[in-house]
Amino acid sequence: MSAAGRRPEILRRRDPIEGDPGCPRPPLPVNAQSASGESIEFDAIIVGAGLAGLVTAGELLDAGKRVLVVEQEPPQSLGGQAFWSFGGLFLIDSPEQRRMGVHDSLELARQDWFGTAAFDREEDLWPRRWAEAYLEFAAGEKRSWLRSKGVKLFPVVGWAERGSGTAGGHGNSVPRFHITWGTGPGLLQPFIARVRQGHADGRATLAHRHRVDELLIDDGRVVGVRGSILREDDMERGVASNRDVVGEFEFRAPAVVVTSGGIGGNHELVRRNWPERLGTPPAHMLAGVPAHVDGRMIGISEQAGARVINGDRMWHYTEGIQNWSPVWQNHGIRILPGPSSLWFDAEGNRLPAPLFPGFDTLGTLEHLQQTGHDHSWFVLTQKILEKEFTLSGSEQNPDLTDKNIGLLLQRVRPGAPAPVEAFKQHGADFVVAATLPELFSGMRAISDVPFDDKAIERTVLEHDRELDNGFSKDAQLTAITSARRYRGDKLIRVASPHKFLDPKAGPLIAVKLHILTRKTLGGLETDLQGRAQNAEGTSVRGLYAAGEVSGFGGGGVHGYRSLEGTFLGGCLFSGRQAARGVLADLR
Ligand SMILES: Cc1cc2nc3c(=O)[nH]c(=O)nc-3n(C[C@H](O)[C@H](O)[C@H](O)COP(=O)(O)OP(=O)(O)OC[C@H]3O[C@@H](n4cnc5c(N)ncnc54)[C@H](O)[C@@H]3O)c2cc1C
Repeated sequence: MSAAGRRPEILRRRDPIEGDPGCPRPPLPVNAQSASGESIEFDAIIVGAGLAGLVTAGELLDAGKRVLVVEQEPPQSLGGQAFWSFGGLFLIDSPEQRRMGVHDSLELARQDWFGTAAFDREEDLWPRRWAEAYLEFAAGEKRSWLRSKGVKLFPVVGWAERGSGTAGGHGNSVPRFHITWGTGPGLLQPFIARVRQGHADGRATLAHRHRVDELLIDDGRVVGVRGSILREDDMERGVASNRDVVGEFEFRAPAVVVTSGGIGGNHELVRRNWPERLGTPPAHMLAGVPAHVDGRMIGISEQAGARVINGDRMWHYTEGIQNWSPVWQNHGIRILPGPSSLWFDAEGNRLPAPLFPGFDTLGTLEHLQQTGHDHSWFVLTQKILEKEFTLSGSEQNPDLTDKNIGLLLQRVRPGAPAPVEAFKQHGADFVVAATLPELFSGMRAISDVPFDDKAIERTVLEHDRELDNGFSKDAQLTAITSARRYRGDKLIRVASPHKFLDPKAGPLIAVKLHILTRKTLGGLETDLQGRAQNAEGTSVRGLYAAGEVSGFGGGGVHGYRSLEGTFLGGCLFSGRQAARGVLADLR
């Protein structure tokens, strides 16, 4: 059977958002006339209909402005990456945290953010200011603003990026990863609805299959966009659409907001920008984002005078697995791991403390790149798989995405969630075995790098011996014990410590992990109201940026690393701020 034939039902849905057929596409001729022939004047043009573009459009519509959103993809891909996202949101001192017994504060979050970001460059001026402003947003208005739009949160808060082992260093000191009820599609829903309403009111125009190739400049000011109309395409959401040019367009407006996303779908650009500190760029990477995340608009904005900063900062995962039912080419899924799997490099050496699953994404990537191999291994038990494997992505979490309580209860019942079990059965990277020798032979069958099976066996035996006591000198076991003191982890995220060779915990499982591209942390430098900056440190008149293309604010609000759940939130915040900048300048 073909991969497409086995795809779970949720991926076949054409309907992007529950109850929402997507924005109707107006008949939009090249000269931007309405169907009745009147000339349309826009206050702002927004390039890209992902989360950041939709937020910006919504805010401008709320202020009574007329907006044009140009989007290269067809209507079924409306919402960009956010549709596929898990909907994880970084919030500080929320009622959900408090209900789970977590004491968070703005001060603690600031310590974590700045310890993680490690800002150290002259061009971190705006990113630092964005970080301060974003922390205030995440501790303040973010939750109530989202709630006012009908966005609700799953009550169990997750603990992502547990850190590099010191209080002042990288990582979240407390759980802060709030999952949107409805995951990515649930988060997108109100913003899509707002633009649809704008369309019904005659103030929003959404032009799909319009790809911007150039920003128009007049007297040093960006005054519009020019580009290609692409042939219609009825491919499924997420699949690469054709790039056949069937026409041209040119639109003008006093403000152009670029919200075109990052570079993660363009592996050539990723390799070109790969930082030395992360070793040699991987020869093999999985794509964690669809092909439209192509980074083209970054160069186009640069040509119009915008400054790109921190291009070497990026956020890729080391726990990627090949999607057994791919949507896009080379499609990889990230495992959001709990802390109990043993992690080995390609040659069978255990990763050093504190590079445990879910602790330090880039620390692990840096370490692995020094090994000279692009893959690594999780070794675990069925018991760990059932409790600790969550797959990132809306389609991999149908219980949360479809708000299905019956399915959700599966998370506390014995057995793995269905999407995880499907990967175990069909995934090319999974090996399941009753004994270690069988496991090693399965691992050999899917890897051409020789590994030291004696070293893996010794590590498993040492691990199991430590479990004769309720205490241990193994830092990973200590971390697991500490994690289970958090109610959320004990309930659904962290398996009770057990011996790997206890048959009751089996079978044994090995998972071959690949590097998976995802987020772009640098980008177009902007001031706090989204105005693109030039090399002289002044604003490029008429040009604004928000979302991933602007490094989620300022050209890199995260610095070198992220606390997770900060990307969607960065789109929300920077989209709002860019709209405010446009409004201030239109006055
Ligand atoms: C599987 C997955 C899981 C994720 N999970 C999370 C999570 O739990 N929490 C979190 O915080 N983040 C998560 N993210 C990241 C987050 O979803 C993205 O960073 C965010 O949605 C980016 O939004 P954006 O609007 O900036 O860009 P995009 O969503 O990439 O949208 C940009 C749009 O611009 C269009 N475009 C680009 N160039 C042009 C052009 N030249 N002309 C016209 N249109 C153009 C593109 O077609 C696209 O539609 C996840 C991402 C993925 C893929």
